[in-house]
Amino acid sequence: MSSSASIPVAETFLSIQGEGKLTGVPSYFVRVSGCNLRCAWCDTPYASWSPEGRGVEIGELVRRAESSGARHAVVTGGEPMIFPQVTTLTHALRETGLHVTVETAGTVHRGVACDLLSLSPKLRNSTPIGDPRDPLGEWTARHETRRLNLPVLQRLVDEHPDRQVKFVVSSPADLPEMHHLLSRLRGLAPSDIMLMPEGTTVPDPASVRWAVDECLRRGWRYCHRLHVELFGNTRGT
Ligand code: SF4
Repeated sequence: MSSSASIPVAETFLSIQGEGKLTGVPSYFVRVSGCNLRCAWCDTPYASWSPEGRGVEIGELVRRAESSGARHAVVTGGEPMIFPQVTTLTHALRETGLHVTVETAGTVHRGVACDLLSLSPKLRNSTPIGDPRDPLGEWTARHETRRLNLPVLQRLVDEHPDRQVKFVVSSPADLPEMHHLLSRLRGLAPSDIMLMPEGTTVPDPASVRWAVDECLRRGWRYCHRLHVELFGNTRGT
């Protein structure tokens, strides 16, 4: 596929990475538009529930990233892996010398060139139930069927030694499902695992203490959302 191929894009922007191992690093974000899931609490519904944007040529995206001044690029969504063009996009970004992160729920496999693979497997708490955006409930079953794909997750873990696995958690009731999933995945170190409390505002520390305690017990990482603290829940950040 050539760099004249295009990929649907909801937004591109320069910001700091707000989540994960590279929190605080200036990065150029390419947010593709479209997703095979519909998380109840999705914080970018304009790239999932109601995908916005238009096709942008890969060459143009690479030029924007290069001229942003950032040394890091983040390909996010939506779900980048549903687009075959993501393979060409990540290779092209990396060929310029940029450090590339790909953020994915890990339900679809693509070969991608990246320096950090950021996996975010979706727990049961993500399934939309009685959501007004889904009046016929079609996405409840579709999301529930698609949200975990263990063979794909394992393949992506195996292919990317530099990875992180972020779990969005709502309450301690999510932990048994998480533990069960982790018991079925091979090769992850405790430092790869992150707990990120659900929400689009900065949480009250007391309300997330249970997640902090679980990280302390397991050697996992607590995942903050620095961009929300700095900019609020706004686009382009
Ligand atoms: S996988 Fe990500 S982009 Fe897709 S619906 Fe869930 S949170 Fe939103």
